[in-house]
Amino acid sequence: MHYHINGTSPKEYKVINYDADVSLLVNQTNESLRAEIVISLYEGDEDQSNSHVIGIESFEQNIQCSISQNDGVSRFQKSSVTDITIGTFFNDATSFKNALRSFAIKENFGVRIKASDKKRVIATCSYQGCQWRIQASLCEDSQSFQVRRVDGEHTCPGINRAGNRLATSAWVANQIQEMVKRYPDISPKEINSGLEKEFGLSLPYMKLWRAREQARDNIFGSVDDNYKWVPTLTAELLDRNPGSHITYTFNAIGNSFQRFYVSFKVCVDGFLFGCRPLISLDACHLKSKYLGVLLSANSVDGNNGLFTIAYVVVEAESKHSWSWFLKNMGETIGTNLSTLSFISDMEKGLGEAIREIYPQAEHRICIRHLWKNIKKNFRCKEGQKMQGLVWAAANAYTNVEMNEKLSELHDLSPTLYSYLISLPYKWSRSQFMIGIGHATNTNNFAESFNAWISDARTKPAVDLIDLIREKVMEQRAQ
Ligand SMILES: [Zn+2]
Repeated sequence: MHYHINGTSPKEYKVINYDADVSLLVNQTNESLRAEIVISLYEGDEDQSNSHVIGIESFEQNIQCSISQNDGVSRFQKSSVTDITIGTFFNDATSFKNALRSFAIKENFGVRIKASDKKRVIATCSYQGCQWRIQASLCEDSQSFQVRRVDGEHTCPGINRAGNRLATSAWVANQIQEMVKRYPDISPKEINSGLEKEFGLSLPYMKLWRAREQARDNIFGSVDDNYKWVPTLTAELLDRNPGSHITYTFNAIGNSFQRFYVSFKVCVDGFLFGCRPLISLDACHLKSKYLGVLLSANSVDGNNGLFTIAYVVVEAESKHSWSWFLKNMGETIGTNLSTLSFISDMEKGLGEAIREIYPQAEHRICIRHLWKNIKKNFRCKEGQKMQGLVWAAANAYTNVEMNEKLSELHDLSPTLYSYLISLPYKWSRSQFMIGIGHATNTNNFAESFNAWISDARTKPAVDLIDLIREKVMEQRAQ
């Protein structure tokens, strides 16, 4: 299967190999652009070299759009394309060429620069056989250019609007710069409708997306400037901390930084040889312009001191990002520790990720977090009594004691009882794994970690990563 974004040509077909490709398609079309999926049916066995296409099915889906129609147009600043006629003045040769480009896009023809030097610029229509030709020459002020000749009429059939090669991302970026300055979050769809009005263009989604990024970079400085240091930072960290596990991923779209994982060798060794086999996991939202989420893994050392094992910056909290984090951590501490316990809040996707990657490990849930959840979802006249019983059951060290509290809870709220006994987490001390050596049922050390690094949260990812490194190294030196 293939898909292509935006019902324009030239069509950009992409092969659908994985489910992820489809979600990529959906993401890219959620701004009401059209997507076409072409299903090629092959006859024969899996060896496609011998098979042939027996049919092509294509369908289009128009996705509903929530933006009002004139929104895109009102945001789109008229770029006032200069009409290029004999006698028109331009500040310099570059301005002339830029104006010619916009003019040609608007007038639906291609341009070939035949000659360009200090004194003159000669351009023709790029269509073979079309006689149209233009010449601008340097004026007496040795700076400005004036159109001196326009010869011939266009005999070309006009070029495909979307295929006009003059309409590059850079050109679009230039056209939309003022608009992006005012509306940095303008969508590619809005850009498209503006360009359609002004130039009759309908460009591929990705080109518009890239153009917007480029315009933003021109205005605000590169969003990814900070991230350009990611490879350098990685090399430096590895150089100073041999044996550490440090890795990152880039987003395929726009080639922007996506995730960064850090666990220093000294931390991993310290955890394996000097800490309790208990790992607190937590997510903390970052506050910098680039946002993202910091995920962390902390343990406690023999003196009950906070011990950071690993941390990671990810784009958002999900089963995918948690899995990526836990898999990387597994490469250092191993995933088959027979005695290992995790404690966390009920983070999105985390429970599943733990069960998948550390199938033998225990997953404790912070009772404070669980109680908040219960308070929100279960109504009970005797709220205080309910709270007392839930906490007592959570703090019970023996099954007998926990069952006692649970049966009292059952009388109070059978639904809450069913909820508690069906949780895929451990929440009562009486259920905890033997050998962990720590009976905590709250995620306090994650809170200590977040407070400890709170000043770093406003920093861009690379600074954040390095600041935490500094703190972790101080922690290790103590
Ligand atoms: Zn022409």
